[in-house]
Amino acid sequence: MSEIRLYNTLTNRLEPLSPVHPGEVRIYTCGPTVYASAHIGNFRTFVFQDILRRFLRSQGYRVMQVMNVTDVDDRIIHSATAAGIGIREYTERYIQAFLEDIDALRIEGPEELVRATDHIEDMVVLIEKLQQKGLTYNSDGSIYFRISKFPEYGKLSKIDLSGIQPGARVDVDQYDKENARDFALWKAPKPGEHFWETRIGPGRPGWHIECSAMSMKYLGDTLDIHTGGVDLAFPHHENEIAQSEAATGKPFVRMWLHAEHLIIDGQKMSKSLGNIYTLRDLFAKGHRPSTIRFLLLCVPYRRQLNFTEDGLTQSRNSVERLRNFVARLKAEQFPAGSNPEVQKLIERAENDFDAGLANDLNTAVALASIFDFVRDANTAMDRRAFLQQDAPRAMAAMEKFDTVLALLADNDDEMLGKLGFTPQEPRMPVAQIETLIEERQAAKKARDFKRADEIRQKLADSGILLEDTKDGAVRWKYK
Ligand SMILES: [Zn+2]
Repeated sequence: MSEIRLYNTLTNRLEPLSPVHPGEVRIYTCGPTVYASAHIGNFRTFVFQDILRRFLRSQGYRVMQVMNVTDVDDRIIHSATAAGIGIREYTERYIQAFLEDIDALRIEGPEELVRATDHIEDMVVLIEKLQQKGLTYNSDGSIYFRISKFPEYGKLSKIDLSGIQPGARVDVDQYDKENARDFALWKAPKPGEHFWETRIGPGRPGWHIECSAMSMKYLGDTLDIHTGGVDLAFPHHENEIAQSEAATGKPFVRMWLHAEHLIIDGQKMSKSLGNIYTLRDLFAKGHRPSTIRFLLLCVPYRRQLNFTEDGLTQSRNSVERLRNFVARLKAEQFPAGSNPEVQKLIERAENDFDAGLANDLNTAVALASIFDFVRDANTAMDRRAFLQQDAPRAMAAMEKFDTVLALLADNDDEMLGKLGFTPQEPRMPVAQIETLIEERQAAKKARDFKRADEIRQKLADSGILLEDTKDGAVRWKYK
């Protein structure tokens, strides 16, 4: 097991992972607000969390991950009211769509996916605790957290607190990113809006309290890791710390991990530029789930990711290269024996892969180790230096990498079909390609070069490139 080091936003440094309960890592993840479909920037964060949990498991840890679903907030209430339906009904379809989306991207679901509206009582209990400690005040039926009562406020985001106006507060769920303010724990009901009748009065929870209440309920007072997009660090995560630590007197989270932004063609995603893409927008353009997954994971999570058409093309080719290599491993007849040089290549790839990910989930290093290996192994195969007993070992390594990357299974078309999309370029099935190649080999043997050329052309028209090797074998790949 390599020592795993992760960058903790709280301390601004790389730290070794050391879970509260040895052998088990407890992770809380801020999930989607289900008033619309999640966009590709959200999925960058979810894919990063997936790599985190898959890697931890590959290193022998048990993982307990909790993700919330924010199914009550200003936007949800407004949209549901406008649609004339209840908030549960309104949010249900977006929750279903989210589950389909993460499934398409091969994101392992969290152990617990919890809805805010199922945990109102837990939030009320937590707010009561804060009330008893004198950290709150009431105003017009709403309850606010007084940040000046929590001296460590700002320790995560390092926000400048010098300009704070005493009593300045915020009610809306979409927050000012610049100024620290007292924030609503509980909001008084507005006419015609959904509310809960509770011991602390009628109303509904503020956004931040749900994450504190639900994370501690399922994971204990001190979590090992809390993840989210970098835009959540302030004020959301700062407020989570204030509520939780003020209530329990214990550290809330050992490590805060934040994923950087995704930008599109070098620009910030924005409504006015019309460049906010959902996963389904990309599927409709013919992009495959595995291509998108590759692009989202190939840049280490703390670096900004530039999402481009070019990047999609390269990602698709990269996934194909891996799949073609595995197909070759399975199909080709290698000379008998085992080559210690190849064994060394495999070992190095495995070590570099783990070391890359153990160093703050550096997926770029991990991927480079695989692609170097695939290149070197292909070269060895071409030279007939890759031997029969090297194949199972290489296959095992590829499968091990894939427990973290989840790119090899070729079910993109099936997945797109399930979601109602037709893959733009249906590909010729591998079995058919191989039959045609055999037929072409036979034609060449019989000196029927016309037929052999026809077959080569037919394959080329279907996007299959053939490469005749020196020893008479034929390799193929998708264009
Ligand atoms: Zn949250």
